[in-house]
Parts: sequence; structure tokens; C-alpha cells
Amino acid sequence: MSHFPNNTTGEAAVYAHCLLPQPLGKPLTWSVPPEFQGLIAPGMRVRVPLRQGNAVAIVVDISTRAPEGFKARPIIEVLDLAPFYDPPMMKFLQWAADYYLASAGLVLRAAMPAHSRAPAPKRKKKAAAKETEPEIHAEGERIPRPTPAQSAALDSVVEAVKAQHHEVFLLHGVTASGKTEVYLRAAAAALDMNRSAVILVPEIALSYQIVSRFSARFPGRVSVLHSRLTGKERTDSLDEVRRGPRIIIGARSAVFAPAVSPGLFVVDEEHESAYKQDEHVPFYHARECALVRAKLEGCPVVLGSATPSLESAAQAKKGRFTLLTLPDRIDHTPMPLVEVVPMNREPSGTIIGEKLAAALKDTLAKGEQALLFLNRRGFASTMLCAACGSPLRCTECSTSMVVHSAESRIKCHWCGANRAIPVECPACHSPSLRPIGFGTQRIEHQVLQLLPEAKVVRMDQDTTRQRLAHQDLLEKFTKGDILIGTQMVAKGLDFPRLSLVGIVLADLSLSLPDFRAGERTFQLAMQVAGRAGRRERQGLVILQTFAPSHPAIVAAAEQDYWKFYNAESAQRRVLGYPPFGRIIRFRFTGADRNAVVSSAKAMGRFLESRIDAKTMVMGPAPAMPAVVARRHHWHLVIKGPDGEAMRKLAKEAVSRSETGPEAGKVQVSADVNPLNVLS
Ligand code: ADP
Ligand code: ZN
Ligand code: ZN
Repeated sequence: MSHFPNNTTGEAAVYAHCLLPQPLGKPLTWSVPPEFQGLIAPGMRVRVPLRQGNAVAIVVDISTRAPEGFKARPIIEVLDLAPFYDPPMMKFLQWAADYYLASAGLVLRAAMPAHSRAPAPKRKKKAAAKETEPEIHAEGERIPRPTPAQSAALDSVVEAVKAQHHEVFLLHGVTASGKTEVYLRAAAAALDMNRSAVILVPEIALSYQIVSRFSARFPGRVSVLHSRLTGKERTDSLDEVRRGPRIIIGARSAVFAPAVSPGLFVVDEEHESAYKQDEHVPFYHARECALVRAKLEGCPVVLGSATPSLESAAQAKKGRFTLLTLPDRIDHTPMPLVEVVPMNREPSGTIIGEKLAAALKDTLAKGEQALLFLNRRGFASTMLCAACGSPLRCTECSTSMVVHSAESRIKCHWCGANRAIPVECPACHSPSLRPIGFGTQRIEHQVLQLLPEAKVVRMDQDTTRQRLAHQDLLEKFTKGDILIGTQMVAKGLDFPRLSLVGIVLADLSLSLPDFRAGERTFQLAMQVAGRAGRRERQGLVILQTFAPSHPAIVAAAEQDYWKFYNAESAQRRVLGYPPFGRIIRFRFTGADRNAVVSSAKAMGRFLESRIDAKTMVMGPAPAMPAVVARRHHWHLVIKGPDGEAMRKLAKEAVSRSETGPEAGKVQVSADVNPLNVLS
């Protein structure tokens, strides 16, 4: 049954069925006092009494049918003059609930900004809301003439905007190839059609440039939605958004913005994992949502990236998305040179190899700066063969196994396989397996031994505990020589004197027990490489690795996206991983370990008994880490070709465990198309 119907009834309504932004799957019923009858319609916000206090709810249906078995209490207040959510939006919310296996109420909670459901918003009539954009001068912006590549891309996008037909464009272009200029002109076309444009960015705090360019181009027509706005600011920007066609810029939750007739969606840096909500239900992905919402609205979507996700690239290959390419940087700055340095020829324990050491000296001698990058996201200690570079893989799952040194065992965090640490490499049989892993401190130590005079700034989770530290450290680096950092330095840095980037050990991300490890490594390498030689300087990137012939490394060295895509997709296809298969991940958490394990195992048995021959159950196994704040985390993954059948089964499995013997002790959730497959 749909909880988001879109019929507007004209006849005298007596009862309103309203959805609360709470973990409830169904609307509840209140009566409509005579003074509100005729004023109330589906999609409007109303204030309703609860057993304790009151809350804001969304009207989903109005009827004369009295509820059975209880007397409905009257609605307190109608908060909108016109529906807060229009019919396509109501359909979209219902889709999200169905697709992500979440209750409709929790989807509503994700969609509605907190303030619009918490305090009593007094309905002022058109208090001229102040513009929410940053102080930027609107005058004097010179609008560049599109290059031939931009024109070609724009022709197709603008045509779709004008025709208001749904089409997905994958805009593939390196950094500074002019993608933003394409978004700007496409958005202009939407405004011309009296339609809104929704521009999604991975993180609003890192998107100052894009916001200021939109504000300069469209003075007074840009609304920025982000969580750091105060309640009042957010109410104002929401009022703006609902008053007429606008440009709306925001992070992933802006995909739920109640925009007035959206005519364009843009997802910038579409490959970014920040688009996935994976902390609480609904586990939605803003790119997936934008595609569906645009389809329901009948408008185009532009997905932009220098390193598209495999999911999007595969759709482009199939011809379902239209591929648009911007092959060169606008100012013809050459791409940096990437040099791969095999580490198996260096003495064991080396962090800064010979080549990198020489390049560092050289760079500092020229008065230029260097960045040393270490990827430690989700870092797990794994075994790596120093002879052939292969990480120790699970024979079932093809993902890396994790070392548990206390027990001298290796474990697969996907299927639970648990073995003694082998003495020789299963791939090349040399006795060269060793655990890998070190931190930024050890890099700093080696750098200072090498270059005692260098002004080194270290930036990682330890040095940036305080909020301000990040900015302070970057400030300090403007006068420094070498910046050492983890993934937080990969994005957005723009230091004109920076000409050398060292990727200290690419294998750290390459050997994560995650089937997207290669993709993440490639994306990161391309991204950090982009930090080198931003102006007229020729940048140099030195990529140290034990696996110089890994396809992701080879493609990163050549900066050849499609080469990477071809190699990676061939492997995923064979293993049935996305985008060629679907996965759903179940998570089990609770304070009682036995209950968590038996709930996970019971679900595993249930799924095994119901899947078809092409679908696989992986696990259950402890998540990584397995215990957080005294709560135990286990997980289970199903992988198969038929996403819809899997979602149906998953829904049944979750509701079964909600009534099973461990119900109440164990929290069970399902993550459809998970990005995080570890923790
Ligand atoms: P991307 O979004 O791909 O990183 P941008 O759109 O930000 O690229 O373009 C990079 C730089 O080039 C910006 O400073 C932009 O103003 C400028 N630019 C973009 N298109 C043109 C053009 N057609 N002519 C001249 N400059 C341009
Ligand atoms: Zn080996
Ligand atoms: Zn396994």
C-alpha cells in the first residue's frame, strides 16, 4: 500500500491521515476541525497532538472514513498555505521508503529539515527573507565563452532542460576542465524555463568556490541548504526555496529539498562516498535518489566527475546514460607526471624510497613545496607479499584478509573465514609475507632524518582534534616545505608552489578488504595527483607501491580512466560485484554478543533457504571493528543479479528478525547498495 498517495480530494474532509517523521511505516489519523476543512491538502504540514506534546506531520490522505476503534483527536494547526511536498515529491518519498527498505516515517525524517518539524513555525506572510548566499560581488563576473567541448556538452544538456525530458548525462572531465561552467549554463536554462535547479555537492564546507560562482552568476536566486545554518536561517532559505524557481545548492540531503518544479539536477563529484547516508536508516544514496526524483519530475540529471563511479560509467557504456567528455584542462596546464616506484627493491622498512627522497630534495632546493600522502581510511592491517605485491586474499570473497596478530590468525571480514597466518605467499610461494601499516608520525621521522632543515607540517586525525586546527595547519603550510597528511589533504588544496606529491604507500588502500579498494585507490591517486603543479608548473607525482602492475596503479600512472574502468569492470563482472551484480548488507548490533551472533546466524540460515542458485550469502562475520562502545557489530551480505528479488527477500528477512527470539536485544538493518562494507 502506498503511504504517499497524491490525490487531492475536493469534498469536505473530515479525517486526515498524516505521517510523522518517526519510525512508523503507516500514517495515523486525526480529525479535521471545521475551520480547517477546505484548507488542508495532501503534502501539507500540520501540527498534531500526541500522547505527550505535539508534532509536525505531513498529510498524506484526507477522507471521510472514521478510524475504527478509537476517537481521532483534532489537528491543532495547519502550517502551510500550499503543499510543502508536491505530488511527484510524495511519490519520490514513497519510492525511497520502498527501495531502501525503510519505514516511510524515517524517510520523512531524513527529508524534512529538523526545524521544519520541531518548534512552532509561526506562519508569517512573506517576511522578505534575506538572501542566504555569502557576500559575493555579483558585478564584474566575466562569463566565459564555452570551449568547443563545453558547447558540445551544453547543446545536449540544454536541449533536455528545454524539452523537459528525462535523460541522464555523465559529464566526465578532469579537474578544471570546465564542468562547473556547464552546470552554470544548464542551470541558467532551467531558470529560463521557470524551473528550479538542484545542485548537489559532496560537502558544503568544501564547496565555497562552487557556491560563490553560482551566487555571482545568479545574484539573489541561489539558496544554500546546509546543516550549519541556524534554525532561522534555514526557515528563511526553505521559504525561499518554496516561493519560486531557484538554484538550490546543498549536500546529500538537499536531494529532498522541496524545490518548486525542478528542471535540472546536478550531482558534482558523483563518485564521492559522502553522497551515501550510512549512519542511520534510511541508508540512501543521493545520486540514486537524484536519478529517481528527476525521472518522476521529468527532467535531466548531470553527473559530473573526473573519475566516475563504476556504477555510472557502466550505465554510460550500456548507453543508458549519455556520456559527455571534457578532455582537457581549460588553461591547458599539463597533467602532472605520475611515476610508479616499486617498493620491493627498497630495503625492508623503507618508507621514503630513493626516488622520492631525491625528488623531495630537488623540490625544496627549487623553493617549491611537497605533499606526502598516506591513505589510512578504514585502515586494517593486512598481509602483503613483498615479492609479488599481492595482499593475502580470501579464496571465497577475493577481498583482503585482516591480521589478528594477538591470535596469529587471519580473518575474512566478509565470510568469516579464519585461518592461521600462512608462511608463504599463496600467489608466488615466496616466504615474503609481511604485515603492512605505519602512520604519519613515522613518515615525519624519516623525512626529518633525510632533510633536517625542512619545515614539515603534519595533518591527520591526531593533529586536527580541534575544529580550527585544520585551517591553522594549512595556514602554517603556506610558509612550510612539506605537508604530510591522510585523506583529509586529498581534496580542495590549492597551493601554487606545490609541485611534488608523494603517495607513500598506495597498497594501504589497495589491500582493504573491500571490493571497491581498487576503485578508491585509483580515485584517490587521481585526486591527490591533481594537487601537484596547479599553475604553470609541471607537477610530479611519485606513487610508491608493492603492486606496480595492479591495474588500478597502472591506470593511475597513465591517468587513463577508461583503462581503469575496463580492467576493474572485467573483474567485477566475473565476481558478480556491483555494478554487474547487486549487494545488500545486513547489520546486527547489540550489547549482548550471543544475541547478536545468533540473530545474524538465524538470518543467514533463512536467507540460504530462500535464495536462488545465482545469489550468494556471504557471512555472517564480525564487522570491522567488531566492538564499538561495548556494542557488538556483525554483518551479512547477499550478492546476486536480481536486485528487486533481493530487496523483497531482505524486507522479509528483516521483519522476521524483528519478531524473532532476539528482537529487542539486537538491532537489525538492511543497507541496499552499501558503500561501506566493513564497519
Ligand atoms: P571544473 O568544474 O571541471 O573543475 P571549472 O568550470 O571550474 O572546471 O573551470 C576551471 C576554470 O576555468 C575556472 O576558473 C573557470 O572560470 C574557467 N573556465 C571555465 N570555462 C571556461 C571557458 N570556456 N573559457 C575560459 N575560462 C573558463
Ligand atoms: Zn607473492
Ligand atoms: Zn571471505
